[in-house]
Amino acid sequence: MKKYQFWFCTGSQDLYGDECLAHVAEHSRIMVEKLNQSGNLPYEVVWKPTLITSDLIRKTFYEANGDPCCAGVITWMHTFSPAKSWIAGLQECRKPLLHLHTQFNREIPYDEIDMDFMNENQSAHGDREYGHIFSRLGMERKVIMGYWEDAVVQKRIGAWMRTAVGVLESRNVRVMRIADNMRNVAVTEGDKVEAQIKFGWTVDAYPVNEIAEAVQAVSKGDIDILVEEYYSKYEILLEGRNEKEFREHVAVQAGIEIGFERFLEEKNYQAIVTHFGDLGSLKQLPGLAIQRLMEKGYGFGGEGDWKTAAMVRVMKIMTEGMKDAKGTSFMEDYTYNLVPGKEGVLEAHMLEVCPSIADGRIAIKEQPLSMGDREDPARLVFMAKEGPAIATSLIDLGNRFRLIINEVDCKKTEKPMPKLPVATAFWTPRPNLQTGAEAWIYAGGAHHTAFSYDLTAEQMGDWADAMGIEAVYIDQDTTIRRFRNELKWNSVYYR
Ligand code: MN
Repeated sequence: MKKYQFWFCTGSQDLYGDECLAHVAEHSRIMVEKLNQSGNLPYEVVWKPTLITSDLIRKTFYEANGDPCCAGVITWMHTFSPAKSWIAGLQECRKPLLHLHTQFNREIPYDEIDMDFMNENQSAHGDREYGHIFSRLGMERKVIMGYWEDAVVQKRIGAWMRTAVGVLESRNVRVMRIADNMRNVAVTEGDKVEAQIKFGWTVDAYPVNEIAEAVQAVSKGDIDILVEEYYSKYEILLEGRNEKEFREHVAVQAGIEIGFERFLEEKNYQAIVTHFGDLGSLKQLPGLAIQRLMEKGYGFGGEGDWKTAAMVRVMKIMTEGMKDAKGTSFMEDYTYNLVPGKEGVLEAHMLEVCPSIADGRIAIKEQPLSMGDREDPARLVFMAKEGPAIATSLIDLGNRFRLIINEVDCKKTEKPMPKLPVATAFWTPRPNLQTGAEAWIYAGGAHHTAFSYDLTAEQMGDWADAMGIEAVYIDQDTTIRRFRNELKWNSVYYR
């Protein structure tokens, strides 16, 4: 986790005299101190001197741009601050911006309040003037309103900080493709040049046999140590298979994990795509190996799906270091349960589901793949956690990207599925399966998703806004009539 910081910049002006400005500075120092002590922010807030002139504002934003540790700027108008003095600075700003609309005091001091107090504490006034200039400039920013000492406000600031880091770090995402997009598949395709322009992603191809050579170069000693780790960490489901042969298959995945990780690290990639039909000299489709790499923070997409691989990576970064995180994974919509009252989608992939989302035991299983022509791959099997989560799909519509964000409720399946040899999740999309699936299909969403329990639709929508792309939400409030209209309106906006 990088040691990012967020600058706290308080706006004012010199009309109110030195005493007032001294109070403004004192108050904002107290706020920064208490915000940092709250335990609700994943990153440190750094106090900056009160911004009162156009020159100082411009200089401050210029410095924020140049500071690699600064992941965003939090601004708040303690008093009135004429917004024309912010134009040059805001035009300079290239870091994510939060407009915190709050006030130092919680309650109006009814017995003592006079005009001096009102002039000193007028964010209701000053923050409207400040907010106006963003709208006039057509600039993206996040607005959060509420009392700064309230945990719910602090947690929203914390959530935005994670989004801001996702916005900045997106530029560092590098995806290694060791296979092209699956033949004839449309939704996983996309414009890689446009993705680099919009999101900063580097998407490069390598011949699969180059990474296979890195796998072959892994020593037996290294493989044996990792196989031991697997055997101590996971349950082994032999299910009648020969024990020695089983272990040899597991060892193939250990070699793939080590070889892939070394190759990715050496070439500085944080996400990878594979394809069951393009495995070169690899002995197995990377299953267990990819699952473990995802758990370590790598992005992944199956069948050449580099967009989802990059999104999984971005979402892994956004959740980094989160206490009590429930997990983030590549996922695929597979099979429905259409029994009234029990509707949902069974989620899985051929093999590659991240164990960070597992609930309870994780086991290693081996079974033939119905697709591909390699030996039976070892994979981790488990059931995913219960609870609310989001599934996202980034699609390329030819003239723009659209991020589809669906709130879903993850549940246990009614019964175990002993014959299913893959990790699974089961969820009901909001508002319900029928409307959720219809909206998803109208929006053009993929079967592959980047899925997380630990991020909200608001965070992903804010990320999309910061990237300048379309975001649509499918949630409790979605109706098909409104949603279809929204897609039509958006098509005009993004023309
Ligand atoms: Mn797939």
